[in-house]
Amino acid sequence: MFKLGLTGGIGSGKSTVSKLLAKWGATVIDADQLARQLTEPGGLGIKPVTEAFGAEVIDATGAMDRRRMREIVFADKAARTRLEQILHPLIGSAADRAAALATGRYIVFEIPLLVESGRWKDRVNRVCVVDCDVDTQISRVQARSGLSVSAIQEILAAQATREDRLLVADDVILNDISVPIGYLTEQTSALHEIWCALADRS
Ligand code: ADP
Repeated sequence: MFKLGLTGGIGSGKSTVSKLLAKWGATVIDADQLARQLTEPGGLGIKPVTEAFGAEVIDATGAMDRRRMREIVFADKAARTRLEQILHPLIGSAADRAAALATGRYIVFEIPLLVESGRWKDRVNRVCVVDCDVDTQISRVQARSGLSVSAIQEILAAQATREDRLLVADDVILNDISVPIGYLTEQTSALHEIWCALADRS
């Protein structure tokens, strides 16, 4: 089945776009959601994460303590790499399992770190980047999460730059702060038609 990789920085509008695509009949597989499932109580990630980081990163319910883990990996690059080495292959297999069950017109892999992780680009037929400037990201994430500007800047610094993403994009959806939802929808709809046509041909 035709596979689209959908990416973009935090707050760029990926989820907004993927919700539209799901509504129009694509099967959306969200890597963040898979990561959360893997680190829920009893999830496949709990054992290896506990072995690597100790029981203190597991909360009372048996889930990975995401806030604690975030603190650890932001402070320590090696820890971040270790966590990624555990979770990325598990996310990849979970995504394959979900893709095998897909019934939509095509598959959308929503992958926040598609550009950073390197392993996704070869697994999709096409990459779409939801693109916006950094100020837009900061104001959207602030409105959504209430995080401080410096905390958001830290997250942005750990992600690929806008330029890095645009370099791997086959398609781009522009979603700066000046873009109304209507225009975001229009751009997405035009690309959806193209992806459906490509899916029908493949
Ligand atoms: P991401 O999944 O890339 O982090 P989201 O789709 O969650 O981004 O968008 C971040 C926030 O910005 C959400 O609250 C969303 O509703 C809002 N948003 C995104 N695009 C627009 C837009 N064009 N106009 C208004 N609000 C938007």
